[in-house]
Amino acid sequence: MAIADPDCLFCKIAAGEISATIVAEGERTIAFMDINPATRGHTLVIPRAHARDVHDIDPEDLRAIVTAAQDVAAKQLHRLGADGVNLLNSNGPAAWQTVFHFHLHVIPRYDGDPLKLPWVPAPGDLDDITAAGAELAD
Ligand code: AMP
Ligand code: ZN
Repeated sequence: MAIADPDCLFCKIAAGEISATIVAEGERTIAFMDINPATRGHTLVIPRAHARDVHDIDPEDLRAIVTAAQDVAAKQLHRLGADGVNLLNSNGPAAWQTVFHFHLHVIPRYDGDPLKLPWVPAPGDLDDITAAGAELAD
């Protein structure tokens, strides 16, 4: 697929130009591990087609993203042992958006975990991100 926005980081991931730990791919969507995970298994689901935010995205892509996120969330429970899941989406800087290609955060939660939202992004352990990605992968 052609890159819609050559300056967009997530378009480059969708095009395979920047590597990511991909856990699921659909016709319209890609799910990959967040490199600054809020908790172990933190996953992002994006549309293949560039869209800035919830106002901009094709509704059919949005539906596909929600369905893909539901699947990832189930795997976080069953494969990673999560006790709960937060779905989070930010639109606009005032709402914490920092990457301007729509994405839905799928954040596994563990009983008693110390996460407070918004979390402070910090690079995760790449080996563990890769391992969690392998556990979630289709
Ligand atoms: P937001 O702040 O809601 O726009 O979320 C952007 C997310 O993208 C953050 O959680 C970042 O950790 C994540 N992120 C940024 N660059 C990458 C990358 N190259 N691979 C995976 N996740 C990324
Ligand atoms: Zn993009």
